[in-house]
Amino acid sequence: MLSITPAKSVMKIAFLSQALFMLTISAPVRAADNLLIISIDGLRWQEVFRGYDANVLAEPEFEKHQKSILHDLDAKTVEEKRHKLMPFLWRVMAKQGVMIGNRDNQSAMEVSNTWWFSYPGYNEILTGKADERVDSNKPVANPNVTILEWLNQQKNYQNNVAAFGSWDVFPAIINQERSKLPINAGFMPADWSGLTAKAKWLNALQKDIPSPWHNVRLDAFTVGFAQEYIQAKQPKVIYIALGETDDFAHDGDYPAYLRSAHQSDGFIERLWDTLQAMPNYRGNTNLLITVDHGRGNSIETWQHHASPKATRGYLSDLAKHKNGIEGSNQVWMAALGPDIQPAGEVSNNETYGLNQIAATTLILLGQNPDEYAKTNGKPIGKALPILKPKQAHNETIKN
Ligand SMILES: [Zn+2]
Repeated sequence: MLSITPAKSVMKIAFLSQALFMLTISAPVRAADNLLIISIDGLRWQEVFRGYDANVLAEPEFEKHQKSILHDLDAKTVEEKRHKLMPFLWRVMAKQGVMIGNRDNQSAMEVSNTWWFSYPGYNEILTGKADERVDSNKPVANPNVTILEWLNQQKNYQNNVAAFGSWDVFPAIINQERSKLPINAGFMPADWSGLTAKAKWLNALQKDIPSPWHNVRLDAFTVGFAQEYIQAKQPKVIYIALGETDDFAHDGDYPAYLRSAHQSDGFIERLWDTLQAMPNYRGNTNLLITVDHGRGNSIETWQHHASPKATRGYLSDLAKHKNGIEGSNQVWMAALGPDIQPAGEVSNNETYGLNQIAATTLILLGQNPDEYAKTNGKPIGKALPILKPKQAHNETIKN
């Protein structure tokens, strides 16, 4: 056995501290300056990881759509089927980034809130913790400071945060009145300075093309406005909340839900390509994708989502489902970028929480989640283990 003389151990300590010092000064404060977060309302992990559900599609009410859906989304293997539904996720994100939440592959993620519907889910994504007070989808101003609002108060991110949503409740979720963030959601037109011809055209089209819903616009407008804003203002932190998938599902329109999921994947690719074509963002942007809740896991319940508690109160029209809508607490996420491990599809028997997205976001931006928690009162969820190791050094440096 090797014995170390006192002199040698002093030398060893000196060497180690020098090595640590060099590690500290050589580690970048953070690799990427920018972050794009996208949520796809209520898109089930089942479709993302398995492709379309043949049992749901086989229901007689979808008969006239079956042929075209099968033409576009059917394949022999699960891998090919999911690739056809979400090609960017599987071609790019699953190869160069990370995907969490495939319960067929021992990977799980779930909400920590006790409601399993939208506003509590978005509050959890954007604050890193569930809040019992957020117990409806009513446009009540969020008492919590979201990470977007907090980032906008930090030196490096002031006036560099923007949010876009299809659902008209986002100004309340992000508390636009208090946060003063630029938020374009619901049926708001583009109203920033120096509108491009395309932004003006989108404003006109938004008036001309009726939405199927009274409180949610078609995602093409949300993405179109976001893209014009990004090119005009180049914010460092961008949040885009897509909404169609949830509303088509509530309508019981499975073919439209599938088409919208596929389109969402196309939007994500388009946004990513837009960013990679701009010098500020190229190689300097991380991307996080997640959902606010899952949906039922059966032919009878795929349309819905609610916890047992929610069916006894706010969602009482689902009261016959005494155990709530089973499976609708199950969510997933995907990430890609210079600070994300290229770990591919996770399969580690861990269950991660939707409340971990916020802390992960802050660390990706070189911020200390504990500093944010001070503002917001309660501890924030811990970061997901999807960051490259150098990110861990950054954390120790920051602390
Ligand atoms: Zn939702």
